[in-house]
Amino acid sequence: MPGAVHESVLDAIGATPLIRLRRLTEGLAPRIYLKAEWQNAGGSVKDRAALAMIRAAEASGDLRPGGVVVEGTSGNTGIGLALVGGFLGYRTVIVVPDTTAAEKIAALRAYGAEVVPTPGGLTREDPRHVNNLAARLAAETPGGWLADQYGNPANPQAHRDTTAPEIWEQTGGRVTCLVAGIGTGGTLSGTGAALKELGPVRVVGVDPETSAYGGGDGSPYYVEAIGHYRHPDTVDDPWPANWDRAVADEVVRVDDRTTMLTARHLAREEGLLLGGSSATAVAGALRVARDLGPDDVVVVIAPDSGRAYLSKYFDDGWLRRLGFLTEADGQGPLVGELPLLEVPVVRASWTVGRARAALGELPGPAPVARDREGPAAPSEILGAVTAGALEGVADDDPVRDHATAQPPSVGAGEGIETARERLGDAGAAWVVRDGRVAGLVTRAALGLPESLAPAD
Ligand code: PMP
Repeated sequence: MPGAVHESVLDAIGATPLIRLRRLTEGLAPRIYLKAEWQNAGGSVKDRAALAMIRAAEASGDLRPGGVVVEGTSGNTGIGLALVGGFLGYRTVIVVPDTTAAEKIAALRAYGAEVVPTPGGLTREDPRHVNNLAARLAAETPGGWLADQYGNPANPQAHRDTTAPEIWEQTGGRVTCLVAGIGTGGTLSGTGAALKELGPVRVVGVDPETSAYGGGDGSPYYVEAIGHYRHPDTVDDPWPANWDRAVADEVVRVDDRTTMLTARHLAREEGLLLGGSSATAVAGALRVARDLGPDDVVVVIAPDSGRAYLSKYFDDGWLRRLGFLTEADGQGPLVGELPLLEVPVVRASWTVGRARAALGELPGPAPVARDREGPAAPSEILGAVTAGALEGVADDDPVRDHATAQPPSVGAGEGIETARERLGDAGAAWVVRDGRVAGLVTRAALGLPESLAPAD
């Protein structure tokens, strides 16, 4: 079959193929297909929503000739809007958190978007938060129109109108299970609702383990573009209007390590280099498929390619540093095999007295992190504190005022030589496993001399 002929780039959005998984599915009864959304013109599933939102705004008169498309997004929606906006002659302004990968910002600029960076990791109430800043820019810019992917009904409608009927037709009506991640919820809510109207289809949402959508505590996770992170200081944290929980029959939770390893397997064994949200969805689908039979046909939405994540999920150094990859690699023993000291997490709201009690005799720094339960992810660590530094300080002082710079950190999957170099003159380092500080490793444990006094 020859490829399609499109009369413009906009026609190269949608009508993506299904690709059957053949290697990771061994021992599983159902057929599992990926909906290859990375083959959209702008490289992701979000092209569909971007095109539909712009078309709907033109139809309603909210976006007029000479108008300006504005959105807050760190990724694919911005690219979709910039692509469609650029083609149709609109200026596009995209607000991005400054934690966004340089490649993504470069891609937005390459499509002609004006990029406005704002700090990441802010509370939902902060006026500089991506969504708040984008809304303000849209209101203040003459002809400005806020795409609002989280609330705009044209986003799920795009999937009702295109993704769902495509899947139905491609499977000859035999699809029995839809699996997808949840960012705005547009893909799962729209595709799922429309498929359910066509036949008995089980709709499964897949969520990073600590994301709030699936019942996690909202603490950080390492998969981009899906899930719901909850800043501990955020007061009102509404879920997007476009995430219709009633459409999903269940939400399956997948931990980051499983996602990372699934991404590697997909690339190495299936020949499919896909992003983290695809890998999470595939991991969820493989789990669900265990309970399905040979007549079942599972379709998994694969939103984007792995090209944008080569320096993360596909980089062994990154994986080892965060303690996701912990198998020996022939470079000698790994940090994770050493005796580690348990390290308490001191919370930002604590007093010095409480911190002192938690620290005990710990011979090194403990993290001072945002207020929540459980081990701390590096992105929520605000500083470090040692028992020594608190000596003589009043018990009711806020510990935050006594936090100092963080010590080096090493991954449980890194070699001891690497850790020694990373330590430099420091007395100890934090050890990261599965993206959380899991312990403290001292100079002695690394076989380094205790004394730092200059030899004179
Ligand atoms: N995966 C990727 C790579 C995405 O960019 C997005 C959009 N944030 C999603 C999944 C989730 O899609 P949706 O917003 O439709 O829920």
